[in-house]
Amino acid sequence: MAHAAFESANYGRHAAEIDQNVRKAAARTCMNIAHLLAPNPGVFTGAGTNTYVVGGDRRALVIDPGPVINEHFERIVETIGGRETVGVVVTHTHADHAPLANPLGAELGAPVYGFAPGPDFMPTDLVGEGDRIGVEDEFLEVVYTPGHSDDHICLLLGTNLFSGDHIIGGSTVMIDNLSKYLASLEKLRPMALSKLLPGHGPAMDDPAVVIDYYVSHRRERENEIVLALENGARSVGAVVTDVYRDVPEELHRIAALSVAAHLRKLTDDGVVTFDDDAAFDLWDTLVAMVRS
Ligand SMILES: [Zn+2]
Repeated sequence: MAHAAFESANYGRHAAEIDQNVRKAAARTCMNIAHLLAPNPGVFTGAGTNTYVVGGDRRALVIDPGPVINEHFERIVETIGGRETVGVVVTHTHADHAPLANPLGAELGAPVYGFAPGPDFMPTDLVGEGDRIGVEDEFLEVVYTPGHSDDHICLLLGTNLFSGDHIIGGSTVMIDNLSKYLASLEKLRPMALSKLLPGHGPAMDDPAVVIDYYVSHRRERENEIVLALENGARSVGAVVTDVYRDVPEELHRIAALSVAAHLRKLTDDGVVTFDDDAAFDLWDTLVAMVRS
């Protein structure tokens, strides 16, 4: 499957596909899974954040309500309809996933679940690895998957995995900690998943293939970065220019985040060393600049 880096511009054309795939997923659990696309398109969010409403006839639960946008809030409430809301869960606390959770929980009188508090997010109930959140006769099981962010969880429903930003459809995940990220991918391998329902982009029917691709893509990237260093690159910028020479320049700032994550892992692994401590400061400054 085509998963070239930085395909975020292609999200739009997958919109119809998402709903179709979600309907297929619903066949594998007795729960009904509704997909709502938040209207927050962008470089990091593709067509927008995927919000899911999971439930049966009487009860429903919301996954990743997204940013505070009135129109989206109303669509979520409408989708829940007359059902009791048993929870609002976030996969992580980034601004495109979590800020609507507390207002929604307050409006619906529902508990708000997350791994940790965040800038615009305060869970009423903390959840972690192995915890279960019941929805009618089934439950969502929490799988702790740090890497994209340190507070990231995926949610397992039957053999369907709500993967948040750990694995997204049609684009490359931004990574905070690559060592943890790869460990979190490896953790999913033995789970015999049948479907990934991501935080952005279309649902995926072949989790094992996707996970293999993600791992090999990262290894390939790492080899390219080591090669760039061997060829004399001595800054994040120089590595980006070398490794991402075929990628449009406006995406190089994003690529720099990925390169920085790789360099951190390579230093953790003892493959790369810096000449002195000042290099670390420079590097952090650069990363901070790129992020802002
Ligand atoms: Zn996101």
